[in-house]
Amino acid sequence: MTEQKKIKRKIIKATAEMQRIMAEYFYELNDAAKTGDRKIAWCTSVGPAEMLRAMGFLVYFPENHGAMLGATRMATDLIPHANALGYSPDICSYLTADIGAYIKGITPLSKAYKGIESVPGPDVLVYNTNQCRDVQDWFAWYAKMFKVPLIGIETYRGVGDVTEEHIISIAKQMESMIPRLEDISGKKFDMDELRRALALSRECSDLWKKVLDTASAVPSPLTFFDGTIQMGPAVLLRGTQQPVDYYKRLLAELEERIENRIAAVEDEQFRIYWEGMPIWGRLSAHSEMFASLRTNVLASTYCNSWIFSAFDTEDPFNSMARAYTELFIVRSDEVKEKYIRSMTEFFKVDGIIYHDAKTCPNNSNCRYGMPRRLEKETGIPSLTINGDMNDMRLVSDEQTKTNIEAFIEQLEENDG
Ligand code: SF4
Repeated sequence: MTEQKKIKRKIIKATAEMQRIMAEYFYELNDAAKTGDRKIAWCTSVGPAEMLRAMGFLVYFPENHGAMLGATRMATDLIPHANALGYSPDICSYLTADIGAYIKGITPLSKAYKGIESVPGPDVLVYNTNQCRDVQDWFAWYAKMFKVPLIGIETYRGVGDVTEEHIISIAKQMESMIPRLEDISGKKFDMDELRRALALSRECSDLWKKVLDTASAVPSPLTFFDGTIQMGPAVLLRGTQQPVDYYKRLLAELEERIENRIAAVEDEQFRIYWEGMPIWGRLSAHSEMFASLRTNVLASTYCNSWIFSAFDTEDPFNSMARAYTELFIVRSDEVKEKYIRSMTEFFKVDGIIYHDAKTCPNNSNCRYGMPRRLEKETGIPSLTINGDMNDMRLVSDEQTKTNIEAFIEQLEENDG
């Protein structure tokens, strides 16, 4: 029987600095929305943020707001307000929670940051459908609501090899956005500014990768749950100096842990790879549960989604097109499986947990036989849990706990 006891999880000291830069980011947006001094672009999480920064926009990401609604457990009560407008309970619960919050006139930002009463209104909305179609519908709703332009990139999905045709098409769509963005920002596009933003974004991406890669150490200095918090600057501030400085500091702390063999989860016995969306409303409960089982969920596809190794300042548009098409979520199952295989080897994992998120089929990779295929090839056991990133009515805590405990027992038995 798996013995459970309260196990200490190591707190990351650098987090206080991250909270400071996140606060700065939200206050800057809030001020700009009030004064109109700077234009604000809303962007999808893997949309062309570097272009927007280069053109002088402050960039706000509704998906981050959706995740905040989940993490603060506000989402479940807000989703029905979007359902009442005709948005199905089965579609993205970031979308439904976020629109629900807007209708109700509430935001978790108010609690986190004194003086912020609402999300910063947009001057333009920019999407890329590389992750899903939901973002397009989501942004289209706000474009009507705020009466501002909606610009987007329609991209490929289920991509095997990324070809020249893919790159040319996406790069052209990106370039063709420039005249409209110039009109809205009142600023001429400057290639040097784009190169500058791209260089900073690439540096951020490289550092973020190094941060996540520290989890390959045994014991791991980092957990997936830490990663979901620490990725904030990479998502929201890529293309600026702040995340670069922050991740240098975080990396130094994690490297020091490795040197001193300090584990994120005391007495680490099992190492797990998380495939799929986090369950935001249960992040802390899950982190505690796994720690009590001496198990570190230490790596994930999700946190790796903000690694853009193809960015190249010598070839800005083509390299952006490549980076935003090479992403895991855009690819075919064959490519995804190859990627997960390499991750399980690199991070030396004992098992994989797939989260089948009811309202995000785009990031639930267990529905077409992948777990069985991978298990057969690698011998690494896996478990699928049903749930959702935001809608806690779709999460059964008892069932999740029972299944995870049984899975860890299975790993113990396999260990002999
Ligand atoms: S990828 Fe999933 S969670 Fe993200 S916006 Fe699309 S449907 Fe929502």
